[in-house]
Amino acid sequence: MTADNGLPVILGGEAVRPQGPPAWPIADESILAAMQSAYSDGSWGRYHGGQVARLEQRLAAMHQVEHVLTCGSGTFAVELALRALKIGPGDEVIMAAYDYEGNFLNIHAVGARPVLIDIDADNWNLAPENLAAAFGPATRALLVSHLHGGLVPMREVMALAEQHGIAVIEDAAQVPGARVQGRMAGTWGDVGILSFGGSKLLTAGRGGALLTRQTEVAQRARLWLRRGNLLCPLSELQAAVLLPQLDRLAERNARRLRAARLLDEALCHVPGLQSFRNRALEDSLPAYYKLGFQFEAASFGLERKRLVAALQAEGIAVDEGFRALHVGRSPRRWRSPGPLPQAERAHAGTIVLHHPILLGRDDELMQVARAVEKIHRHAAQLR
Ligand SMILES: *Cc1c(COP(=O)(O)O)cnc(C)c1O
Repeated sequence: MTADNGLPVILGGEAVRPQGPPAWPIADESILAAMQSAYSDGSWGRYHGGQVARLEQRLAAMHQVEHVLTCGSGTFAVELALRALKIGPGDEVIMAAYDYEGNFLNIHAVGARPVLIDIDADNWNLAPENLAAAFGPATRALLVSHLHGGLVPMREVMALAEQHGIAVIEDAAQVPGARVQGRMAGTWGDVGILSFGGSKLLTAGRGGALLTRQTEVAQRARLWLRRGNLLCPLSELQAAVLLPQLDRLAERNARRLRAARLLDEALCHVPGLQSFRNRALEDSLPAYYKLGFQFEAASFGLERKRLVAALQAEGIAVDEGFRALHVGRSPRRWRSPGPLPQAERAHAGTIVLHHPILLGRDDELMQVARAVEKIHRHAAQLR
């Protein structure tokens, strides 16, 4: 072994995590047992083996909603929600200018047009105070996501939506089990969305779900899925591996929350890197699919691209965030009530840390801080 010279890997030093980021998914005993049981009872090979029905019931009970429809992906669940709410050509849907690109594309997929609004300065999630200016005669719905550990004040969002008589789709793909102002994330809007994609907190490789209390909306969604057979369903085996994860979600969310706070403390002295800060919302608990950071290259002393590459080389699973939705897109494809300065900042400055390390030991968590500090110390040589 060579002595650690304290240099970043890309300057010839040793990696903080030579083994790379922790693996995901976590294949624990309960997953194996679920797969064995799906094997033994034959549900693995059936159209209807009871697992999907059980999962839908569990999700409904957990969220206290009447209707849950599982489907092939969170992305498809958003399209399904738009269709179930009868959003179509000529309609406008308000969303944050910084969000999952699939949400923007889904609005176009149903023939509607996105109205992009600016985001909160501190957590780069949708800011309710920017909604009022966005409503127009064609506005029919609002699509809102909780992103990168951020929470959107849904009480304020719902009050405005009700005032204007428009529907709300709450995308909780990144925050299953989170609490927002006294309610489970995904249960504030007319429709809520979950994802079971391969990197998500509840994971089955693929999959999604639509949640709603409204029987009519659920019926329209079901009708849309019926094409002789079901369009784009979740499989029995996917449902089987999701069920045991529901039992562990609250405990894992609590561990991730604690870790996010520890890391925030450990990194708060680093200039130019600030984790997303939520407003003080009563009875709320964020969830962390990604831990979001607001990054300023000038203060940190290094370009975002270089920092991300240097951290990845250290074995830390970070990435640049989403692209802002208005950047590089024809203004014919969206409108906005005004300039989008915070979305521009988010476009250039979001860095996200992937969640698996938040379930690691504290010393593993501190490796993230060590890697950041090391790169900051050598920023001048990395430029
Ligand atoms: C992942 C994600 C989705 C889509 O989920 P998939 O199941 O991957 O299609 C939707 N919205 C947000 C905010 C997401 O992070």
